[in-house]
Amino acid sequence: STTKEPKPDWIRIKLTTGDNYQEIKSMMRSKTLHTVCEEARCPNIYECWANRTATFMILGDVCTRACRFCAVNTGMPTELDLDEPERVADAAESMNLQHCVITSVARDDLQDGGASIFAASIHAVRKRLPLCSVEVLIPDFLGNPDALKIVMDAKPDILNHNIETVERLSDRVRAKAKYRRSMELLKNAKVLQPNIPTKSSMMLGLGEEWDEILQSMDDLREVDCNILTLGQYLQPSSKHLDVVKYIPPEDFAKLKEEGLKRGFSHVESAPLVRSSYHAHEQVKSASQH
Ligand code: SF4
Ligand code: SF4
Repeated sequence: STTKEPKPDWIRIKLTTGDNYQEIKSMMRSKTLHTVCEEARCPNIYECWANRTATFMILGDVCTRACRFCAVNTGMPTELDLDEPERVADAAESMNLQHCVITSVARDDLQDGGASIFAASIHAVRKRLPLCSVEVLIPDFLGNPDALKIVMDAKPDILNHNIETVERLSDRVRAKAKYRRSMELLKNAKVLQPNIPTKSSMMLGLGEEWDEILQSMDDLREVDCNILTLGQYLQPSSKHLDVVKYIPPEDFAKLKEEGLKRGFSHVESAPLVRSSYHAHEQVKSASQH
Protein backbone atom coordinates (compact mmCIF):
# COMPACT_ATOMS: atom_id res chain seq x y z
CA SER A 1 0.00 0.00 0.00
CA THR A 2 1.12 3.55 -0.57
CA THR A 3 0.99 6.27 2.00
CA LYS A 4 -0.17 9.55 0.61
CA GLU A 5 1.84 12.66 1.24
CA PRO A 6 -0.21 14.94 3.50
CA LYS A 7 -0.98 18.37 2.12
CA PRO A 8 1.30 20.92 3.75
CA ASP A 9 0.05 24.24 5.10
CA TRP A 10 1.36 26.29 2.24
CA ILE A 11 -1.01 24.54 -0.14
CA ARG A 12 -4.12 25.41 1.89
CA ILE A 13 -4.91 28.92 0.97
CA LYS A 14 -7.37 31.41 2.29
CA LEU A 15 -9.71 32.62 -0.39
CA THR A 16 -10.60 36.25 -0.54
CA THR A 17 -12.93 37.78 -3.07
CA GLY A 18 -12.58 41.20 -4.56
CA ASP A 19 -15.10 43.39 -6.32
CA ASN A 20 -13.87 42.69 -9.81
CA TYR A 21 -14.12 38.99 -9.11
CA GLN A 22 -17.84 39.05 -8.27
CA GLU A 23 -18.60 41.27 -11.22
CA ILE A 24 -16.77 39.01 -13.65
CA LYS A 25 -18.26 35.89 -12.16
CA SER A 26 -21.83 37.02 -12.75
CA MET A 27 -20.93 38.04 -16.29
CA MET A 28 -19.49 34.60 -16.99
CA ARG A 29 -22.72 33.00 -15.77
CA SER A 30 -24.60 34.84 -18.48
CA LYS A 31 -22.42 33.45 -21.28
CA THR A 32 -21.64 29.92 -22.30
CA LEU A 33 -17.91 30.05 -21.94
CA HIS A 34 -15.37 27.80 -20.36
CA THR A 35 -12.61 29.39 -18.39
CA VAL A 36 -9.81 27.21 -17.18
CA CYS A 37 -9.81 29.41 -14.10
CA GLU A 38 -13.18 28.04 -13.03
CA GLU A 39 -13.03 24.54 -14.44
CA ALA A 40 -9.64 23.70 -13.06
CA ARG A 41 -10.72 25.33 -9.77
CA CYS A 42 -7.55 27.35 -10.01
CA PRO A 43 -6.47 28.68 -6.61
CA ASN A 44 -5.46 32.01 -8.16
CA ILE A 45 -8.87 32.88 -9.59
CA TYR A 46 -9.60 35.76 -7.22
CA GLU A 47 -6.27 37.39 -7.76
CA CYS A 48 -6.17 36.85 -11.51
CA TRP A 49 -9.72 38.00 -12.19
CA ALA A 50 -9.24 41.02 -9.98
CA ASN A 51 -6.15 41.79 -12.07
CA ARG A 52 -8.19 41.29 -15.23
CA THR A 53 -6.42 38.19 -16.41
CA ALA A 54 -8.35 35.10 -17.46
CA THR A 55 -7.73 31.91 -19.36
CA PHE A 56 -10.25 30.66 -21.92
CA MET A 57 -10.47 27.13 -23.15
CA ILE A 58 -11.38 26.85 -26.83
CA LEU A 59 -12.07 23.93 -29.19
CA GLY A 60 -14.53 22.33 -26.81
CA ASP A 61 -14.06 20.68 -23.45
CA VAL A 62 -13.36 17.10 -24.55
CA CYS A 63 -9.76 16.16 -25.28
CA THR A 64 -8.46 13.52 -27.70
CA ARG A 65 -5.67 12.75 -25.23
CA ALA A 66 -5.67 11.60 -21.62
CA CYS A 67 -2.70 12.93 -19.70
CA ARG A 68 -2.41 11.40 -16.26
CA PHE A 69 -2.29 14.73 -14.42
CA CYS A 70 -5.14 16.45 -16.21
CA ALA A 71 -8.79 16.76 -15.17
CA VAL A 72 -10.15 17.53 -18.65
CA ASN A 73 -12.55 14.89 -20.04
CA THR A 74 -11.30 12.54 -22.72
CA GLY A 75 -13.33 11.21 -25.61
CA MET A 76 -14.86 12.13 -28.94
CA PRO A 77 -14.52 15.90 -29.28
CA THR A 78 -17.45 18.13 -29.98
CA GLU A 79 -18.05 19.62 -33.41
CA LEU A 80 -15.91 22.61 -34.32
CA ASP A 81 -17.57 25.84 -33.22
CA LEU A 82 -16.73 28.59 -35.68
CA ASP A 83 -18.37 31.27 -33.53
CA GLU A 84 -16.06 30.52 -30.66
CA PRO A 85 -13.44 33.22 -31.43
CA GLU A 86 -16.15 35.92 -31.38
CA ARG A 87 -17.58 34.62 -28.11
CA VAL A 88 -14.14 34.63 -26.51
CA ALA A 89 -13.61 38.20 -27.71
CA ASP A 90 -17.06 39.10 -26.40
CA ALA A 91 -16.26 37.80 -22.94
CA ALA A 92 -12.77 39.31 -22.94
CA GLU A 93 -14.35 42.65 -23.75
CA SER A 94 -17.03 42.33 -21.06
CA MET A 95 -14.33 41.41 -18.56
CA ASN A 96 -12.27 44.33 -19.85
CA LEU A 97 -9.24 42.08 -19.73
CA GLN A 98 -5.71 43.38 -19.68
CA HIS A 99 -4.29 39.96 -20.39
CA CYS A 100 -6.16 37.21 -22.18
CA VAL A 101 -4.86 33.66 -22.23
CA ILE A 102 -6.31 31.28 -24.80
CA THR A 103 -5.71 27.58 -24.55
CA SER A 104 -7.34 24.41 -25.81
CA VAL A 105 -7.66 20.70 -25.49
CA ALA A 106 -5.54 18.65 -27.89
CA ARG A 107 -7.58 18.20 -31.08
CA ASP A 108 -5.63 15.46 -32.81
CA ASP A 109 -8.77 14.76 -34.87
CA LEU A 110 -8.44 18.06 -36.76
CA GLN A 111 -6.13 18.57 -39.71
CA ASP A 112 -4.55 21.72 -38.25
CA GLY A 113 -5.10 20.73 -34.62
CA GLY A 114 -7.33 23.79 -34.23
CA ALA A 115 -4.56 26.27 -35.10
CA SER A 116 -6.85 28.36 -37.30
CA ILE A 117 -9.31 28.80 -34.44
CA PHE A 118 -6.45 29.98 -32.24
CA ALA A 119 -5.48 32.49 -34.92
CA ALA A 120 -9.07 33.70 -35.34
CA SER A 121 -9.39 34.09 -31.57
CA ILE A 122 -6.22 36.21 -31.39
CA HIS A 123 -7.54 38.48 -34.15
CA ALA A 124 -11.00 38.73 -32.59
CA VAL A 125 -9.68 39.74 -29.16
CA ARG A 126 -7.25 42.23 -30.74
CA LYS A 127 -10.07 43.88 -32.61
CA ARG A 128 -12.17 44.45 -29.49
CA LEU A 129 -9.40 45.17 -27.02
CA PRO A 130 -6.38 46.59 -28.83
CA LEU A 131 -4.49 47.13 -25.56
CA CYS A 132 -5.11 43.68 -24.17
CA SER A 133 -2.13 41.34 -24.44
CA VAL A 134 -2.96 37.94 -25.85
CA GLU A 135 -1.14 34.81 -24.80
CA VAL A 136 -1.79 31.44 -26.42
CA LEU A 137 -1.04 28.22 -24.61
CA ILE A 138 -0.99 25.70 -27.42
CA PRO A 139 -0.87 21.91 -27.67
CA ASP A 140 1.94 20.39 -29.74
CA PHE A 141 -0.22 20.00 -32.90
CA LEU A 142 1.50 16.59 -33.22
CA GLY A 143 4.55 18.49 -34.42
CA ASN A 144 2.79 19.88 -37.50
CA PRO A 145 4.89 22.91 -38.57
CA ASP A 146 2.10 24.38 -40.72
CA ALA A 147 -0.23 24.51 -37.72
CA LEU A 148 2.38 26.35 -35.65
CA LYS A 149 2.90 28.82 -38.49
CA ILE A 150 -0.82 29.63 -38.59
CA VAL A 151 -0.67 30.58 -34.90
CA MET A 152 2.60 32.52 -35.17
CA ASP A 153 1.31 34.49 -38.17
CA ALA A 154 -1.48 35.83 -35.95
CA LYS A 155 1.27 37.31 -33.73
CA PRO A 156 0.28 36.50 -30.16
CA ASP A 157 2.04 38.56 -27.47
CA ILE A 158 3.29 35.35 -25.88
CA LEU A 159 3.56 31.85 -27.33
CA ASN A 160 3.23 29.39 -24.51
CA HIS A 161 3.72 25.64 -24.73
CA ASN A 162 4.18 23.56 -21.62
CA ILE A 163 6.75 20.81 -21.28
CA GLU A 164 4.94 19.95 -18.00
CA THR A 165 7.73 17.79 -16.55
CA VAL A 166 11.35 16.69 -16.93
CA GLU A 167 12.44 14.50 -19.83
CA ARG A 168 12.60 11.21 -17.91
CA LEU A 169 9.01 11.45 -16.64
CA SER A 170 7.54 12.91 -19.80
CA ASP A 171 6.16 9.73 -21.36
CA ARG A 172 4.53 8.66 -18.10
CA VAL A 173 2.96 12.01 -17.33
CA ARG A 174 1.86 13.24 -20.74
CA ALA A 175 -0.19 11.29 -23.25
CA LYS A 176 1.30 11.32 -26.77
CA ALA A 177 3.24 14.53 -26.23
CA LYS A 178 7.01 14.17 -26.42
CA TYR A 179 9.62 16.18 -24.56
CA ARG A 180 11.83 16.65 -27.61
CA ARG A 181 8.90 17.51 -29.85
CA SER A 182 7.87 20.22 -27.42
CA MET A 183 11.41 21.63 -27.46
CA GLU A 184 11.27 21.59 -31.27
CA LEU A 185 8.00 23.50 -31.21
CA LEU A 186 9.45 26.22 -28.96
CA LYS A 187 12.51 26.43 -31.17
CA ASN A 188 10.44 26.71 -34.36
CA ALA A 189 8.25 29.40 -32.82
CA LYS A 190 11.38 31.52 -32.43
CA VAL A 191 12.49 30.79 -35.99
CA LEU A 192 9.09 31.91 -37.30
CA GLN A 193 8.75 35.02 -35.10
CA PRO A 194 12.02 35.89 -33.35
CA ASN A 195 10.45 38.83 -31.48
CA ILE A 196 7.58 36.96 -29.88
CA PRO A 197 8.49 35.77 -26.37
CA THR A 198 8.06 32.06 -25.72
CA LYS A 199 7.08 30.52 -22.44
CA SER A 200 6.88 27.10 -20.84
CA SER A 201 5.75 25.57 -17.62
CA MET A 202 6.54 22.62 -15.38
CA MET A 203 4.64 20.96 -12.56
CA LEU A 204 6.90 19.83 -9.73
CA GLY A 205 6.35 17.06 -7.23
CA LEU A 206 5.96 14.22 -9.73
CA GLY A 207 9.20 12.51 -8.71
CA GLU A 208 11.69 14.59 -10.66
CA GLU A 209 15.20 15.13 -9.30
CA TRP A 210 16.64 18.58 -8.68
CA ASP A 211 19.28 18.17 -11.39
CA GLU A 212 16.64 17.10 -13.87
CA ILE A 213 14.76 20.34 -13.28
CA LEU A 214 17.94 22.31 -13.92
CA GLN A 215 18.57 20.26 -17.05
CA SER A 216 15.09 21.13 -18.34
CA MET A 217 15.80 24.79 -17.69
CA ASP A 218 19.01 24.46 -19.73
CA ASP A 219 17.11 22.69 -22.51
CA LEU A 220 14.52 25.48 -22.57
CA ARG A 221 17.17 28.17 -22.70
CA GLU A 222 18.88 26.24 -25.48
CA VAL A 223 15.79 26.89 -27.63
CA ASP A 224 15.69 30.49 -26.38
CA CYS A 225 12.55 30.09 -24.27
CA ASN A 226 12.07 33.39 -22.39
CA ILE A 227 9.55 32.82 -19.61
CA LEU A 228 9.31 29.94 -17.16
CA THR A 229 6.65 29.06 -14.63
CA LEU A 230 7.05 26.37 -11.96
CA GLY A 231 4.27 25.22 -9.64
CA GLN A 232 3.33 22.30 -7.43
CA TYR A 233 1.45 19.41 -9.07
CA LEU A 234 -1.84 18.79 -7.28
CA GLN A 235 -3.77 15.59 -7.92
CA PRO A 236 -7.17 16.43 -9.45
CA SER A 237 -8.72 13.09 -8.32
CA SER A 238 -7.63 9.74 -6.93
CA LYS A 239 -7.55 8.37 -10.49
CA HIS A 240 -4.77 10.77 -11.41
CA LEU A 241 -1.04 10.52 -10.72
CA ASP A 242 -0.11 10.67 -7.06
CA VAL A 243 1.78 13.61 -5.70
CA VAL A 244 5.24 12.21 -4.96
CA LYS A 245 6.42 15.23 -3.04
CA TYR A 246 5.30 18.66 -1.91
CA ILE A 247 8.17 20.94 -2.80
CA PRO A 248 8.74 23.53 -0.05
CA PRO A 249 8.44 27.22 -0.93
CA GLU A 250 12.19 27.74 -0.23
CA ASP A 251 13.04 25.32 -3.02
CA PHE A 252 10.73 27.11 -5.43
CA ALA A 253 12.53 30.33 -4.49
CA LYS A 254 15.91 28.70 -5.19
CA LEU A 255 14.67 27.48 -8.54
CA LYS A 256 13.57 30.98 -9.43
CA GLU A 257 17.16 32.13 -8.85
CA GLU A 258 18.49 29.25 -10.94
CA GLY A 259 16.13 30.23 -13.75
CA LEU A 260 17.06 33.90 -13.69
CA LYS A 261 20.76 32.96 -13.64
CA ARG A 262 20.17 31.01 -16.82
CA GLY A 263 18.75 34.01 -18.60
CA PHE A 264 14.97 33.62 -18.48
CA SER A 265 13.52 37.12 -18.58
CA HIS A 266 10.79 36.15 -16.13
CA VAL A 267 10.39 33.21 -13.75
CA GLU A 268 7.32 32.57 -11.62
CA SER A 269 8.10 29.83 -9.15
CA ALA A 270 5.95 29.05 -6.10
CA PRO A 271 3.65 26.21 -5.00
CA LEU A 272 0.44 27.71 -6.36
CA VAL A 273 1.86 29.20 -9.52
CA ARG A 274 -0.03 28.15 -12.62
CA SER A 275 0.86 28.74 -16.21
CA SER A 276 -0.95 32.07 -16.56
CA TYR A 277 -0.32 33.38 -13.07
CA HIS A 278 0.95 36.98 -13.15
CA ALA A 279 1.03 36.64 -16.90
CA HIS A 280 0.39 40.31 -17.48
CA GLU A 281 3.65 41.17 -15.71
CA GLN A 282 5.45 38.63 -17.83
CA VAL A 283 4.46 40.46 -20.99
CA LYS A 284 6.00 43.61 -19.62
CA SER A 285 9.24 41.98 -18.54
CA ALA A 286 9.51 39.97 -21.73
CA SER A 287 9.08 42.99 -23.93
CA GLN A 288 11.85 44.73 -22.00
CA HIS A 289 13.99 41.73 -22.73
FE1 SF4 B 1 -7.09 31.56 -14.53
FE2 SF4 B 1 -4.54 31.04 -15.08
FE3 SF4 B 1 -5.16 32.83 -13.24
FE4 SF4 B 1 -5.55 30.27 -12.74
S1 SF4 B 1 -3.57 31.27 -13.03
S2 SF4 B 1 -7.01 31.93 -12.34
S3 SF4 B 1 -6.18 29.53 -14.76
S4 SF4 B 1 -5.63 32.99 -15.43
FE1 SF4 C 1 -5.29 17.65 -20.57
FE2 SF4 C 1 -3.96 18.92 -22.51
FE3 SF4 C 1 -3.38 16.38 -21.90
FE4 SF4 C 1 -5.66 17.00 -23.12
S1 SF4 C 1 -3.58 17.23 -23.94
S2 SF4 C 1 -5.43 15.57 -21.41
S3 SF4 C 1 -6.17 18.95 -22.17
S4 SF4 C 1 -3.10 18.19 -20.58
